Amino acid sequence: MCVHVSMADQLPAMVVWDPDEVCVLVARGFPVLDVVRELRALLTIDLGAPEGNGNVLLCFCGARVPLPAELLACTVAAEAC
Ligand SMILES: [Zn+2]
Repeated sequence: MCVHVSMADQLPAMVVWDPDEVCVLVARGFPVLDVVRELRALLTIDLGAPEGNGNVLLCFCGARVPLPAELLACTVAAEAC
């Protein structure tokens, strides 16, 4: 089962790994670049996933981990500012 990323409220940290759901929860309202950096660190260091190029995040099986549309929408908004 591949890692997936979800947005959530009321998290104790910016990025939280939920091993039961094989899911990384991302708190709303943080800069997307910081979120991606945290996600990459969690996937590669904690989960042993291979490192992708650029902003591509990879599952430990090597498949690309899609980012939530909501998070990507934040990227567009940030670039517009
Ligand atoms: Zn996978």
